[in-house]
Amino acid sequence: MFLGAALAALFIALTAGPAAAADFPARDSRYHSFTEMVAEIKAVQAANPGIVKLFSIGKSYQGRTIWAAKISDNVATDEAEPEFLFDSLHHAREHMGVEQSLYLLNTLAKGYGSDSQIKELVDSREIYIIFALNPDGFEYDLTCGGSHAPYCAWRKNRQPNAGTSAIGTDLNRNYGYRWACCGGSSGSPSSITYRGKAAWSAPETRALRDFVLSRVIGGRQQIKSHITFHTNGKLILWPYGYTKTDIPADMTALDHAAFVAFAKGMAARNGYEAEQSSDLYITDGDQIDWMYGTQRIFSFTWELYPPETSTVWGDHYPADENIAAQTANNRAALVYFLRFGWCPYSVLGRIQADCGPLFDDTEINRGWSLNPDGTDTAVATSRFSRGDPEPTTQNGLRSQPDRASSGRYAFVTGRLAGSTPNTNDLDGQTTLASPFVQLPPVPGRLSFRYVYSHGPSSASDYLKVWIEDEATKARTLVWSKAGTAGTIGASWQTATAVLTPFGGKRVRIVIRAVDAGPNSLMEVLIDDVRIERPPA
Ligand SMILES: [Zn+2]
Repeated sequence: MFLGAALAALFIALTAGPAAAADFPARDSRYHSFTEMVAEIKAVQAANPGIVKLFSIGKSYQGRTIWAAKISDNVATDEAEPEFLFDSLHHAREHMGVEQSLYLLNTLAKGYGSDSQIKELVDSREIYIIFALNPDGFEYDLTCGGSHAPYCAWRKNRQPNAGTSAIGTDLNRNYGYRWACCGGSSGSPSSITYRGKAAWSAPETRALRDFVLSRVIGGRQQIKSHITFHTNGKLILWPYGYTKTDIPADMTALDHAAFVAFAKGMAARNGYEAEQSSDLYITDGDQIDWMYGTQRIFSFTWELYPPETSTVWGDHYPADENIAAQTANNRAALVYFLRFGWCPYSVLGRIQADCGPLFDDTEINRGWSLNPDGTDTAVATSRFSRGDPEPTTQNGLRSQPDRASSGRYAFVTGRLAGSTPNTNDLDGQTTLASPFVQLPPVPGRLSFRYVYSHGPSSASDYLKVWIEDEATKARTLVWSKAGTAGTIGASWQTATAVLTPFGGKRVRIVIRAVDAGPNSLMEVLIDDVRIERPPA
């Protein structure tokens, strides 16, 4: 083309706003620009239409599509398979993350026909990849002048901030769990860790949130494990970022053990270092804290290649010759993640107890219904509620414990201690029902933790558990405990029941406490409800 025409084309490209596609310089041409990324994922879909399906989770501030792919057999159908989520490019300059996501897509799509392990993973799971959560920053980062041109070392999105010329929100400080809590983000719009004027103020984080929440079906989050790709440092980070405490109140000891074991298992396969997110530095309002804190997804940040270089340019712009080797270096860790991430408790050897059709530690709402028959008679404050039990005593004995069996919350009757005697008493009937669960042909047992304490009582008071068949509505009593004449103090106990007769059925658990006898204090707590796998 004539020079004049070339200059005219360049002028059009520079003035066309978001339509002008930025690109990497020739020396780094192996990196995918946003335009090249979109072309690549469309090509993979076209070549593998049976297992790859592209979709959008929403638009960026400037209106670009936030592209995602689902990879699974029967990809157009939402099957009852554990789901996984990967994402990349929260931070604009962290381009290796996009390359890692494209590597994963290609590994799954191309391996499907030739690698039996990949085929088994794709057939038995539903895998989602969000390739560039921050497409505006992606484009902008390739448009600067100066000695590192065209790179800008840009991190945030490209959303303006009212009252200042400073642009952008740090998307990984904009999530709505403990947002702005703990000194792990900035309130200044000019800061690279600006958290935004409110949680979820960025359209990109809202799009990711809404996609994740759309995967809650029947009260239960389908996404079991998640990795967000960032750079850099070669680290695998587990929650939380907001606190240095290893096991704060909003994490169970069991989940912490699973996080540590699972992260170390991945790190052993790619040579990264595994640590708690806050060991790097305190962050608040970040993605993995929200993913675990509100959804109980086993969520990890991977800080990809390169190792720390002490300069922003060295940290974020490794030469493109590194892409192939560094993304492939993570293959074994990604396969391990996909193998065990459907239930990371399995890494702890707890597959029978914790990886059955149901495991509810009651730390988040997983779709239980209160008063399912509309026949409960206890006053509202006395019915089961999910929360932190307040201790009470009766006749010198503790009647309501001050701790859940695990974590922070349990289902508790009369949860509050009350300021006068017996305001916390049950007095009447309260009922809980789990969501419906598909049992395998040979189910394991039901187990749950409970407290049943009371003053002088009778068999008119009871705690009973039924299994309800969804098809016939028939309820079968599988466990019960009745009141007695003495005073029984609070202690956490384990109950079990055989579910063999219900094999192959869709059922729910119905739990009812009744305080109908002599008017003395009665307290019931329920925690850690499991439908286990049968013994191997
Ligand atoms: Zn990052």
